[in-house]
Amino acid sequence: MRRAFVGHGASRGNALGHARVRLPAVFDVSEERIAASAVEAELARLHAAMAAVRTELLAARERLQGALAHEIGEFLDLHALLLDDPELLQGLDALIRQERYSADYALRLQRNRLAAVFEGMDDDYFRSRIEDIDHVIGRLHAALHRGDAAVRGTAGEILVTDSVAPSELAQLQEEGVLAVVTSGGSQLSHSAILARSLHLPLVVGAADVLQHINDGDVLVVDGGAGHVVVAPGAADLRAYRARKREEKRERQQLHRLRREPTRTLDGVDIRLYANAESRQDVAEAHALGAAGVGLYRTEFLFLQRDRLPDEDEQFAAYRDAVLGMTGRMVTIRTLDLGADKADRTGLALQREPNPALGCRGVRLSLARGEVFATQMRAIVRASGYGPLRILVPMVARREEMQRVAALLQRTREALRAEGHEIADEIPLGAMIEVPAAALALPGFIDMLDFLSIGTNDLIQYLLAADRDNDALGDLYSPLHPAVLRVLHEVIQLGRRRGKPVAVCGEVAGDALFAPLLLALGLEEFSLHPGTLLEVRQAIRNADLGALRRRAGALLRARDRAGIERWMARCA
Ligand code: PEP
Ligand code: MG
Repeated sequence: MRRAFVGHGASRGNALGHARVRLPAVFDVSEERIAASAVEAELARLHAAMAAVRTELLAARERLQGALAHEIGEFLDLHALLLDDPELLQGLDALIRQERYSADYALRLQRNRLAAVFEGMDDDYFRSRIEDIDHVIGRLHAALHRGDAAVRGTAGEILVTDSVAPSELAQLQEEGVLAVVTSGGSQLSHSAILARSLHLPLVVGAADVLQHINDGDVLVVDGGAGHVVVAPGAADLRAYRARKREEKRERQQLHRLRREPTRTLDGVDIRLYANAESRQDVAEAHALGAAGVGLYRTEFLFLQRDRLPDEDEQFAAYRDAVLGMTGRMVTIRTLDLGADKADRTGLALQREPNPALGCRGVRLSLARGEVFATQMRAIVRASGYGPLRILVPMVARREEMQRVAALLQRTREALRAEGHEIADEIPLGAMIEVPAAALALPGFIDMLDFLSIGTNDLIQYLLAADRDNDALGDLYSPLHPAVLRVLHEVIQLGRRRGKPVAVCGEVAGDALFAPLLLALGLEEFSLHPGTLLEVRQAIRNADLGALRRRAGALLRARDRAGIERWMARCA
């Protein structure tokens, strides 16, 4: 029967497909008994689900990497042990065979029994294991609801779940998921921002979906309006097809913007640079008419490998980025390993108590002088092939930039002496993403040739809100007066001192925020090529003079609602 749900549109786009429901770890199931003749089939269903979860846990263990790999690995091992606990299996079998409960209800009862045992223990450690039981039971429950537990992957399906982590989204899209619908979440969470750059339709806050949508239901999702329809009728399908046609028309229109300037309505040219991590990104940036590469994340050369890349390998990658942009500026960021980006070579520390506040970015580079010296040589050598500048991540103080500048100078002299052809000018800039750097900037801006504001980290550190924690979706947002004030001050200081300032965090790639950034004085954006044309369109629709006249009102907004009202007036 047709049923419609309304949530919030978090990433535009339309999808039509089967639902794949992923239940949260703990889910309410009411008492349900089965016929005696169904017992064997129900047991087989449960055992198939157990086998599927076992495989899932193993696969997750193998895929693990990153700063938290070790800790997460321990949890996964523990979950695999729980799954093999004979107590769990025998208890479940007995509940189905003797009491004739459904597998779902048996899981629920067994969960409560085990939880009661742990709750009764004196030791906090054992009491906290209830959470692990819930994870395992939740996974089993989800596997039961996938119908055929052997079916893996979600290609051509729409994921319906309680929340989705930013780290999952790219993989889901790669697997062929058409859209995601969540019962919780916010439009400005990191996941939402990422979904928009991936062009993956996302509806958040569709409160009742998990209670009413089942695996295999046919859904129509409108990620712009936030609508989800189960068992769509003729009128829904007609509307869906009309929206798809409109989507295609918009795409074609955007496509035409590839060769158009990024010029505001009142004739001011804004520079759009691309964030790039691979050759494909560089090629796409070039094809879309980006002004250059504003952020080349070199750490991606270091991930997923057991050995550090040597000077020649790094040189080849940086040189190819420069050649790929055919004379447009390429900004190579020095290594930003650490925190959520841990490598397998052991370079980034694995066991830091608080990795986001640990030895990452320039701190790690300066601590590992030989690694940094090799990277610097590779970058400087690449400067012989076209315009290139160097960007330093996670800068907190003047001293760090002094050390980097000295290394750059030494490297240039050494390479020249060795007979390499290198550029006469290699501008050196700093990422402004640590609040202390923003505050202390007047004291070291003289050493910088350009600035790039990393809003992903700046927001995280200003608001003490983990950028990867979806539960903080509402707090982790640029729509906070403190974030706007810092952005404004850094941009204005750069302008007064004649130093180009870009924003290279995700905020720059979200067309929704373009008027806000323009009002604060920004003239350089660096963003993933995936949303470059949308941002170009938003800038072409903006009246810069009018926006800047309204900057005072924006900076006077006292809370998120006030900032959102300001944005709504610009729309
Ligand atoms: C940022 O922090 O905004 C940024 C662009 O760097 P990264 O996301 O790589 O930390
Ligand atoms: Mg950063």
